[in-house]
Amino acid sequence: MIIVMKPGAAKHSIEGVISKIKATGLDVHLSEGKEVTIIGIVGDKSLVAGINLELADGVDKIVPVTESYKLSNRKFHPENSVVQVGGVSIGGSELAVMSGPCAVESEDQVLATARAIKASGAQILRGGAYKPRTSPYSFQGLEEDGLKLMKEAREETGLSVVCEVTSQKAIETAVNYVDMLQIGARNMQNFYLLKEAGKTNLPVLLKRGLSATIDEWLNAAEYIMAEGNQNVVLCERGIRTFETATRNTLDLSAVPVIKAKSHLPVIVDPSHATGVRDYVAPLAKAAVACGCDGLMIETHPNPACALSDGPQSLTFEQFDVLMNELRPFAQLVGKTL
Ligand code: PEP
Ligand code: MN
Repeated sequence: MIIVMKPGAAKHSIEGVISKIKATGLDVHLSEGKEVTIIGIVGDKSLVAGINLELADGVDKIVPVTESYKLSNRKFHPENSVVQVGGVSIGGSELAVMSGPCAVESEDQVLATARAIKASGAQILRGGAYKPRTSPYSFQGLEEDGLKLMKEAREETGLSVVCEVTSQKAIETAVNYVDMLQIGARNMQNFYLLKEAGKTNLPVLLKRGLSATIDEWLNAAEYIMAEGNQNVVLCERGIRTFETATRNTLDLSAVPVIKAKSHLPVIVDPSHATGVRDYVAPLAKAAVACGCDGLMIETHPNPACALSDGPQSLTFEQFDVLMNELRPFAQLVGKTL
C-alpha cells in the first residue's frame, strides 16, 4: 500500500507516519516529489491494520497497490527514475544509445568499435563477454579476458560499458570491470541471478524474457530492487510470436505500457528484435518516437565475419547514418541526442 501525504505536508508529519510504520517492523520506501510525498510499504499489510494511518497528521489518503510488484510500480514512485551508468544518465532528457558487438572477439574489434560509436554520438559500449548461445557449440565468449578489453575501451574512450552476466561467478568478476550488468532475455526469470545482481551496487539492464508478459518482467525487476538495488533499466528486445520473417516481434506497445505501470527507464533493442540489419533503423526511429529512454544497437567492424549476430549488426557507416537520422526523432519527443 502507499500513503499519500497532503501537498506540502510538514517534515515532522512525514516522520511521524514513518516511525508508526517502522514500529510494526515493516520498512518504508519514501518518494519525495516536488509537491507530494508518498510513503510506500512492502510486506505484510496486516501489521499496520491496528494503526489508524488515515487519521495520522498530514495523511491525505491510503491507496492499496494490488499489483504484485511494488518497488518498480509507478504508484510507489510517481516520478520517472533516472539511472546513472558511469557518467551517463538513462531516463532523463538525453536519449541514451548503447552500441557494440554482440560478442567481444578481440582487442582490435572492441577498440575500433568503441572509437566509431563514440564518434557517432553513442554514450555506452555494449559487448558480450559471457554469451548465452542457443547451441553449446557456438562461440561462448572470452569471459574475463573480454571484460578486460571492455574496461580498456572505457579507459581509452570514456564510454560507459555494459556486459551481460550469466552466473553468480560472472557477476563477481564483472563488477570489477563494468559500469552496468546486463541480465539477458534467457535469464529474466532466473530469480537467483536477479537477487545476486540486486546485491551489487551496479545498475542492471534487464532484458524482457522471450515469452514474458509485462507483469512478469516487472516482477523480475522487483526481485533486483527488493535486494536494495533500485537502479534497474528495462530493455524491450522482442517477444516470440508466430511470425518468422523477423527473429522476434518487437512489442513497441511495451514502451507506453511500462511508462504507465512503472517509473523505471525503458530502452529498446531493435537488433535482437528483428535479427535483420535492414529492419533495425526503422524500428529504432519508431521506438524513439513512442518514448523510449534509449536504444541498444549491435555494431561490428565487419559484420560478415562476426562470431555472433552478424546478420543484424550494423557497419560503423550504417550506425553513423542512423544516429543522424535519429536526432530529429529525439527532438520531436523533447530529448537530446
Ligand atoms: C544480447 O543482448 O547480446 C542478447 C543475447 O540478447 P537477448 O538476451 O535479448 O537475446
Ligand atoms: Mn547479440
